[in-house]
Amino acid sequence: MLTTQQIRAKFIAFFAAHNHQAVRSSSLIPGNDPTLLFVNAGMVQFKDVFLGAEKRKYSRAASSQRCVRAGGKHNDLDQVGYTARHHTFFEMLGNFSFGDYFKREAIQYAWDFLTKELGLPAEKLWVTVFEEDDEAEKIWRDEIGFPADKISRIGAKDNFWQMGDTGPCGPCTEIFYDHGEDIPGGPPGTPEEDGDRFIEIWNLVFMQFDKQADGSLLPLPKPCVDTGMGLERIASIMQGKHNNYDIDLFQHLIKKASELTGAKDLGDPSLKVVADHIRTCSFLIADGVLPSNEGRGYVLRRIIRRAARHGNKLGAKDLFFHQMVQSLVEQMGADYPELVENQHNIEAALKAEEQKFAETLEIGLQEYQKATKSLADNATIPGELAFKLYDTFGFPLDLTQDVAREDNRVVDVDAFDRCMEAQKDRSRSHKQFSQSNQISTDVIKNLAPTVFTGYDSTTAEVNVQMI
Ligand code: ATP
Ligand code: MG
Ligand code: MG
Ligand code: MG
Repeated sequence: MLTTQQIRAKFIAFFAAHNHQAVRSSSLIPGNDPTLLFVNAGMVQFKDVFLGAEKRKYSRAASSQRCVRAGGKHNDLDQVGYTARHHTFFEMLGNFSFGDYFKREAIQYAWDFLTKELGLPAEKLWVTVFEEDDEAEKIWRDEIGFPADKISRIGAKDNFWQMGDTGPCGPCTEIFYDHGEDIPGGPPGTPEEDGDRFIEIWNLVFMQFDKQADGSLLPLPKPCVDTGMGLERIASIMQGKHNNYDIDLFQHLIKKASELTGAKDLGDPSLKVVADHIRTCSFLIADGVLPSNEGRGYVLRRIIRRAARHGNKLGAKDLFFHQMVQSLVEQMGADYPELVENQHNIEAALKAEEQKFAETLEIGLQEYQKATKSLADNATIPGELAFKLYDTFGFPLDLTQDVAREDNRVVDVDAFDRCMEAQKDRSRSHKQFSQSNQISTDVIKNLAPTVFTGYDSTTAEVNVQMI
């Protein structure tokens, strides 16, 4: 059975053997795009290369990029623990062509990697193309020999990618894996597609147009390819699992979380949440983010507090979350030296935030119970309650929503927003700010600076020179 680590190495080695430069994952903090909260795809570090503003020594690259989708345009936070396939932190395997090969080779490489290199049975796969992209459909059907009745034509929402309102854009083709009849869900493009039976594994983007301000599409002189495949999704297939959280890496983290919290049921969704969140938080801190009340730091704070709440629900009696870091380092440290280098900082920052929140978590939860007891079943949670939990007990809105969801309730977000606005007005007039969410600054001051290691690395199986 291939481990997650071996699959990552195989991917890089396959594309290196086809003249792709192996490139290390960039930091989660986008260096070239202040509008983006976190790196959420493999192409982000190559954005300027695609735009033609930056030249590299190579025209083909492959990477395994760490990604976070929690906040901003792509936000999968609410899915975590509830779908088989979403994480807030995941790795995206990708191969890229900068004006080098195009559709034909990109599809052929993906096909060869999945069916030859990994040996997946062709009959388990399903393909989508953009509804106007006859060329891609023809390649799948006539060159690959893929059955026409398993190719869905999909509209622009899912199968036409664009970098922004203007600039590079183009059609996608996606590859799905059928996890079997026992699982509810249907093929992409059908009304049942939302289930978890057919899971999208690989998305190939063909950048072939330059979108103008007037909406017209000019052909790019040198079309490019950008692909992304979720490492954890392909690992679950290769390990005979349906749920990503059943792969080797997550099972280690889940086991540790159950030891630390005393949880008995290893299938408890809260264990998945904790296992997911420790990766996101550790990598964000390794990349220089610290919990705070705004921007990236607030996203991090929200995720740590959410993990703490799930730990509490699982029965944790003590601060537990920071104790997960060691387990993560054992799983991913070999491939991500920045985790090892920063282990101490990560533990210290997590512990400080856990500590801070522990003081109010229990009372906040009691407050929630008390207030909802008198509400009718399924009644909406008043925005005022959510605001009090936020303001007095440090519960980020999404944490209250997370608690409410388990209770089959929703929060009145509009009313919450009104309370927030009213408070801002008050504090503007009083020139004072609530300190309730502030983390102890002493801890932050004591953190050592992030140490970056070099960019040479070898993959587990083959020696590929990474840059
Ligand atoms: P989905 O439709 O399943 O949400 P997506 O279309 O949003 O996926 P893309 O933006 O196309 O995903 O990203 C490329 C690949 O990255 C996907 O095909 C999938 O394998 C993987 N991926 C995307 N989001 C996640 C996530 N939250 N957790 C794990 N893997 C993901
Ligand atoms: Mg998605
Ligand atoms: Mg999709
Ligand atoms: Mg997609």
